[in-house]
Amino acid sequence: MIKIKDISKNPGSLINPVCREDLVPLPPPYDKIDEQPVWKQISDEQKERIECNLDGIAALSLPKPKDAAEEKMYVDKFEAGLKKLLTSENNWVFLQPLLLSIEYCAKCQTCVNACPVYEETGKNDIYKPTYRSEIFRRLIKKYAKPGGKFLSKIKAEDIELNWTVISRLYELSYRCTLCRRCAQACPMGLDNALITRELRKIFSQELGWAPRELHEKGTMLQLKAGSSTGMSSKIVKENIEFLDEDFSEITGMKIETPWDKEGADVLLIHNAGEILSWPENPAAFAILLQAAGISWTLSSEETGYDGVNYGLFYDDIQLARIAIKHAEIARKLKVKKIVLGECGHQHKAMMTISDRILTGGLNIPKESSMTLLENIVFSGKIKFDPMRNNFPVTLHDPCNIVRNLGIVEPQRRILRYLCPQFREMTPHGIDNYCCGGGSGLAVMSQNNFRDWRISVSGRRKFRQILNAFSDHPGPDVKKYVCAPCSNCKGMIRDIFEYYGATEKSGLMYGGLVELIVNAMADLKEPFI
Ligand code: SF4
Ligand code: SF4
Repeated sequence: MIKIKDISKNPGSLINPVCREDLVPLPPPYDKIDEQPVWKQISDEQKERIECNLDGIAALSLPKPKDAAEEKMYVDKFEAGLKKLLTSENNWVFLQPLLLSIEYCAKCQTCVNACPVYEETGKNDIYKPTYRSEIFRRLIKKYAKPGGKFLSKIKAEDIELNWTVISRLYELSYRCTLCRRCAQACPMGLDNALITRELRKIFSQELGWAPRELHEKGTMLQLKAGSSTGMSSKIVKENIEFLDEDFSEITGMKIETPWDKEGADVLLIHNAGEILSWPENPAAFAILLQAAGISWTLSSEETGYDGVNYGLFYDDIQLARIAIKHAEIARKLKVKKIVLGECGHQHKAMMTISDRILTGGLNIPKESSMTLLENIVFSGKIKFDPMRNNFPVTLHDPCNIVRNLGIVEPQRRILRYLCPQFREMTPHGIDNYCCGGGSGLAVMSQNNFRDWRISVSGRRKFRQILNAFSDHPGPDVKKYVCAPCSNCKGMIRDIFEYYGATEKSGLMYGGLVELIVNAMADLKEPFI
């Protein structure tokens, strides 16, 4: 049993390092531990340099402080950050839900069993949604509220803020996928994921600590080069031109992706990772939108061709900088609306959170690609042959599209219509489980973190996928996991590679629009 107060005690690892043997077993042929990849170990040399004092995992490579003065500087900044979170001028996005989540926890623990990370580790206390939140609540009450130090002593809720606390909390805030399954389960409507995200925000905005994959190689690169992939506008245009040529040949349709078309009905913004890793997705969008006669365009302006907004996961200011750029580009092009490609966090950033930032002239209508695709499929403009999709298909629900936005049915209506062997995972829809890579984890792989995220946070999803196809477990029948989100696809790709699931179980994955185009009756050959 780990107690809340243990977070500030003994500078070594808070728990015995998590290992494969602790985890809930997977079904065959993935049930033999000695046949699974061996977890990377943190070397003694690394332990000298970086903090590894939570659970034996070092996702963030936080350097150890040089001396006591540096420790104190960071602890003071953290304390100042706690106070700032409670003021409207400093917390202009999330203040109200945060205050509710701080004040009204009934400590009923209903949320705990909703968390796949906690469950898959064999119920390790530190991964409970409430463990992180209760530490945060006690720190807020002690250090950010008047009379807090006195009251917390009387109530025996006293946690000493020190380097051990903040360095452990920093790592712990990246052991949650922000899937908000716990928030949905809470009878009081409290949001433990928001608390986790606000912790990340203090670290980023006050201490300058953020995962390099999300900040330097994410937001900063996107602002500097135009995309978190590092692709400039010129390179993106060349890539898309190449795709147009290639797929014109494959499909027998002359495909021309429009660029910077003023007054178009739709500005489509992809996650630019698609162009590099899954080019068939933007190609399928181009084929379908053109066949349906939609007035649409891509933008070649920097940031306008990349819907990634990693600030959503760790920093309000970085979130706002990217969201404002996207809206300004749409306003300049005078498009009727922005349509968000198959990327969950892009949906959340633009359609939910940015509502608090994009006001006045920047309040451009936004639509999910899920509803646009549904409207096209059922418009009667395109002839489909569902038998082209006559293989087992299941659907992964990206948390940010489904639980967050409530866009549940459009993608299902398409799949029920176009995929004769479509079957649901259990549970699904708003009760879905995260792919395991939510909140940026999918792109984070420092030190031994890749082993943790695939084996722990991605474990429930892998089991769900295997169960959905239990009627065809072997590799002889190819099966398709439809994951309409770039981030989820990256995570599912990593899970399949890690376990050799394509070879052992015939598992493939891809987006939604590819299945739609695959069923277009007039294409020379099926698209997939
Ligand atoms: S947001 Fe998801 S991963 Fe994080 S604590 Fe809640 S249920 Fe667990
Ligand atoms: S379910 Fe809600 S009220 Fe109950 S412990 Fe979790 S956060 Fe607190």
